[in-house]
Amino acid sequence: MSRMPTTTLDTLGRLYATGHGLFGFCTDCAKLYRMADPPERCVPSNFDVDLAKLIEERGADCSVIHMAPVACPRCGGLRTECRITTPP
Ligand SMILES: [Zn+2]
Repeated sequence: MSRMPTTTLDTLGRLYATGHGLFGFCTDCAKLYRMADPPERCVPSNFDVDLAKLIEERGADCSVIHMAPVACPRCGGLRTECRITTPP
């Protein structure tokens, strides 16, 4: 039995090296979203995370699992969650 070669995406450096990205979701901005508002007045709650910049700040060995929250670029809040995006 041979195992398939796998890469675990457990650190920021691995995400970056494999072309993955991160986007954040801010729960505080999401609370400001009202379905009744026209789309142009709705506050977006998703934001792209600049992975290269994050690695500069936290290091390539920073674990993605249970990583400290990335501040929301709109409200500066830390009630955010990150999701991994696939390579383009
Ligand atoms: Zn926010």
